[in-house]
Amino acid sequence: MTNATPLNQPTDLNDARIISNSEVSDFLTCERKHLFSFGYSKESKHPSDSLTTGILGHEVLAEIYRAIKGGASVKEAEQDGMRLLTEILISGKYSAETVSKVQILISRYMAQDTLATGTRILEVERDFYLPINDDYWYGMRLDLLVEPLVGRLKGSVLLIDHKFTYDFYQPDNLLLNPQMPKYVGTVRYNGYPVHEAYLNMFRTRFPSHLISKKSNDDLFKRMPVGLQEMNQARIRNALKTQMTASERILERRKLPLDLWQEEALPVQNNMICRSCPFKNPCIMMEADVPAEKALGGEYQSRSYGYNSEDSDNG
Ligand code: SF4
Repeated sequence: MTNATPLNQPTDLNDARIISNSEVSDFLTCERKHLFSFGYSKESKHPSDSLTTGILGHEVLAEIYRAIKGGASVKEAEQDGMRLLTEILISGKYSAETVSKVQILISRYMAQDTLATGTRILEVERDFYLPINDDYWYGMRLDLLVEPLVGRLKGSVLLIDHKFTYDFYQPDNLLLNPQMPKYVGTVRYNGYPVHEAYLNMFRTRFPSHLISKKSNDDLFKRMPVGLQEMNQARIRNALKTQMTASERILERRKLPLDLWQEEALPVQNNMICRSCPFKNPCIMMEADVPAEKALGGEYQSRSYGYNSEDSDNG
């Protein structure tokens, strides 16, 4: 088994130009949405229930697996996770229904989880970097890296990415998603010989009072990415798209915000716009309201890092 340490990361993280999967995804989805998120660095003060569920779910899982990595029993780790959720509930920052949904989902998950009991936890929520060229890095936050203690894969390194998603991914969604090839390439670059990667999916479509009526198969699915299919070409092409989009983003970042705004075309597509958190400022900008004014009141400085919005729901 390997005990990798980070071989490469920017020496000054405050200064480094790091571009994540989520920034590229925003840029390719809608340049105006990217402008709001990364040019003005804003996020909604009232994130959607699906985004909140993903953010809270990731936080609690990180708390639990970090405790197990530190030597806690599974039961103690779960108690740590539930304690964190209680604190979050008391803070009043998120709706009671969302916190309750995450609490019930995670409790059900822990009762059947094999990662906590059958693996050694190598890394939890760690940032990894891949130099793209002299000017900038690709940055990502890994959810979990484990080494199975038993079975066919004993001693290998497995990458786990938690996804809180309305419905489970289908195989073609997975093949079209560039996130996992980039993650595998970057973690391997940093010294871990990743053998397989899994999407660890949590289905969020059911309200909290219905979760108890659902089977584990309705709620959870761990899908291997299939690294045999994820050959070097897939990794290379995912990184190539990242690189090309990053170069365009870096050109955009050089512009003052008023010129950036001129360049950032709104996609104005029903399918995409209906889940956009910036609908109102976008509509106001179409009526010539300046972006800064349109972003008043309901938006705050962007707070989350690489992975909270990397998936469809977080
Ligand atoms: S509402 Fe649509 S066009 Fe406007 S920023 Fe969002 S995705 Fe882009």
